[in-house]
Amino acid sequence: MALELSARIARIPAYPAAEGYAWKGPLTRLASNESPWPPLPAVREAIERELATLNRYPDPTAGALRAALSDRYGVPSERIAIGNGSCDILLAAGEALLEPGAELVYSWPAFSVYPHLAAASGARAITVALDDQDRHDLEAMAAEVTVATRLLIVCNPNNPTSTAVDFQRIADFLQKIPPHVCVILDEAYCEFNLSHDPDATVDLLSEHPNLVLLRTFSKVYGLCGLRVGFALCGAVDLPHAVNQVRQPFFSNSVAQAAAVEALAHQDAVAERVTRTIAERISVEERLRALGIGPAASQTNFSWFDLDGPLRGGPERRDEQELQEAARREERVVRALAERGILVRAGGALGRPGALRVSYGTSEENERFLSALAEIL
Ligand SMILES: *Cc1c(COP(=O)(O)O)cnc(C)c1O
Repeated sequence: MALELSARIARIPAYPAAEGYAWKGPLTRLASNESPWPPLPAVREAIERELATLNRYPDPTAGALRAALSDRYGVPSERIAIGNGSCDILLAAGEALLEPGAELVYSWPAFSVYPHLAAASGARAITVALDDQDRHDLEAMAAEVTVATRLLIVCNPNNPTSTAVDFQRIADFLQKIPPHVCVILDEAYCEFNLSHDPDATVDLLSEHPNLVLLRTFSKVYGLCGLRVGFALCGAVDLPHAVNQVRQPFFSNSVAQAAAVEALAHQDAVAERVTRTIAERISVEERLRALGIGPAASQTNFSWFDLDGPLRGGPERRDEQELQEAARREERVVRALAERGILVRAGGALGRPGALRVSYGTSEENERFLSALAEIL
């Protein structure tokens, strides 16, 4: 390498991207928690209408989208941030809040983008183990808060473990966090969570100016290819700060128009949630019949150890068990890939021997389950 790169480039982990984008045959894509259903016809029409205006820059304030979100959630539009995917807001929040000497707290395993925030800023990352049901341990997280803490991230429901913590535990947890600490609740999968009303947390914003609810059009709305996400915030500080650190036109006009249209079809969202949950119930049943004990999913994917019921994190296993688990995982992921079925290997997500498998259509899930039965 001839270029002299900044020191942080060596620290920033590469995002564990799904493989198979170069594969030519028919693929069963169950590796990225995408929606198996294409965008709604009305959304595609909105996208087509927008194409004629692409000689103009997009609205840098995303005014129409923020107004539509404000109507939908009852949060004033100046407290809503838009992003080129919700990851864009997450990374901008890291840039706005963190610096050397500052601390950031999150659980592990959780979303693979979180380690990026500390690496990019030089802040210290404090990771907290999940509990024995693979859920966030909110008490243990609250106990890690110090005067140096700037940001705390709770992924609920959690990717990759699929589990959720109850609404009341979140409400109690927020009472314990000092107001100078920004709390990001990453709710990318909240629509699939049956343990409480997905919008219950919106009511917490009025009590907690430091709270940020991070949401996305990538999952239930099926628009991940367009990149658009949003944050509902308890105060204007974070929306202002994330806009300061980004380029002026971070959100493209097609994405904004598609998101406005998608929001108007909540009946379709509800219907997709129902279909996804029907798949969830049937996939979990079939996994259990194979002797596998998936975590209690509140998402559009399952998380499980390949050697039976979940047995907790690496810290609860010895070295030899970990190596065996990693080999089994590698063998199963490869055998599935040879059949054109892409799933996510747990090793890259912090749990050797586990798999994360998104729910596809019934046919895709069937293809995955019969292949898994054959391989095991
Ligand atoms: C998929 C996902 C997101 C969404 O990312 P986008 O940038 O909006 O596509 C955010 N957080 C978690 C935990 C996710 O799994």
